[in-house]
Amino acid sequence: MVNEEVVKSLLEETKNRTIVAATKYGNEVDILNLVSLGIKDIGENRVKVFLEKYELLHDADIVWHFIGHLQSKKVKMMINKIDYLHSLDRLSLAEQIQEHRSLPLSCFIEVNISNESTKYGLPIEEVVSFYKKMRNYDKINIVGLMGMATHTDDEAIIRHQFSKLTELKSEINSLADKPIEYLSIGMSNDYKIALDFGSTHLRIGSILFRKEE
Ligand SMILES: *Cc1c(COP(=O)(O)O)cnc(C)c1O
Repeated sequence: MVNEEVVKSLLEETKNRTIVAATKYGNEVDILNLVSLGIKDIGENRVKVFLEKYELLHDADIVWHFIGHLQSKKVKMMINKIDYLHSLDRLSLAEQIQEHRSLPLSCFIEVNISNESTKYGLPIEEVVSFYKKMRNYDKINIVGLMGMATHTDDEAIIRHQFSKLTELKSEINSLADKPIEYLSIGMSNDYKIALDFGSTHLRIGSILFRKEE
């Protein structure tokens, strides 16, 4: 169930940024509820669940984001249904998108800012050259960078990791003909810090929902 008070105060607090609701904790009714409250950017992190929800809701006024790890073999069945991909992190995925997508897709390059081997994303030192390669893929339009900070209460660690992404963004924009504008950072536990680092897309999940009693 959507926590309306939290949604309203978040929208107030994050004016002129985009909240991408991570709806893995919610169902179709919750999504429609979020849309009616003013969050129409919806992020799914699993292909199967995304397809089920899309089937029911594709006529609704929703901007669809895919935010989770995307297996190459699943690209074909979903890639023409989404508006944004937050998890472009390898060439083999780019190849599949190039093959199956009809119109150019707005993509974030996912960067492994926490340097944890369990997290997905390109290593920081490979991002600039990957960005350059993406110029050859006309179905891929790089609009920003995405990162997930370590889940910790230590703000200094989170700040350090977010700062790597803002540095990378400046580096890319110093050599890009077309600057990238977006940063997809900030989740329930660290979105306030992400606001300080210029987040344009906050991927927020758990705090939007009440636990069912
Ligand atoms: C679930 C999820 C989020 C949101 O996480 P919360 O901590 O619940 O806000 C953000 N990004 C991705 C990729 C997710 O899967």
